[in-house]
Amino acid sequence: MHVIYGGTFDPIHHGHLRLALEVSEALSVARIHLVPSHIPPHRGETGASAEQRLELIRQAIAPEPALVLDEQEVRRGGASFTADTLRHLRAELGPDCPLVMVVGTDAFSSFHRWREWEQIPELAHIVVVQRPGSELPMGSEAARILEERRAGCPADLHSRPAGFALELAPPLLDISATGIRQRIAAGRSVRYLTPDVVCQNIDAWKLYGARSGQVR
Ligand code: ATP
Repeated sequence: MHVIYGGTFDPIHHGHLRLALEVSEALSVARIHLVPSHIPPHRGETGASAEQRLELIRQAIAPEPALVLDEQEVRRGGASFTADTLRHLRAELGPDCPLVMVVGTDAFSSFHRWREWEQIPELAHIVVVQRPGSELPMGSEAARILEERRAGCPADLHSRPAGFALELAPPLLDISATGIRQRIAAGRSVRYLTPDVVCQNIDAWKLYGARSGQVR
């Protein structure tokens, strides 16, 4: 089974890292592939560059063999579409390998606006992680997909290549990249929200408006 977990990771933080480990254990898989999206430069002015986000992820996951970086969306450039990424992986993995996309309820609630969203359940299983304070809107396409495709248990996802939707509610850390960027811009500490090595490089590279010596 191949499991991907996408996001902007601007920057990666302990909320992302814990979620990935919780999902790997819930699904009994050895690896979760983190897929940072490419952000077109005009949208990324105040954040980190794609290369910097990749490097922060590399450093954050270095001690953990269960977490793997997949650079394909950044390497492809342009806007990143999950359907393209899943098609690419499907071609690599072959038709029979279960492929899983992990997404939080906040991101999944706008699923009906994703490019080619109707294709996605044909390409992969969807694991929806409940983020507190982010319920799926009743009657939304996202809620309907979860209802109609609901898996009975995580083991179901191993039984076919795509098509199930599974809801997980692991304990999550209430951390967001937005909160981290805001703290840095306000001159506050982000220690313990993201790994020390990420803090050190935010500081060294003066990301998100950091002043020298502030973030560590
Ligand atoms: P931002 O605040 O910039 O929107 P974010 O911290 O929410 O960023 P993203 O890169 O947008 O992170 O999120 C990628 C994925 O990680 C999404 O599916 C989102 O639901 C999930 N996610 C983000 N933060 C957490 C967290 N603290 N715990 C669990 N999942 C999270």
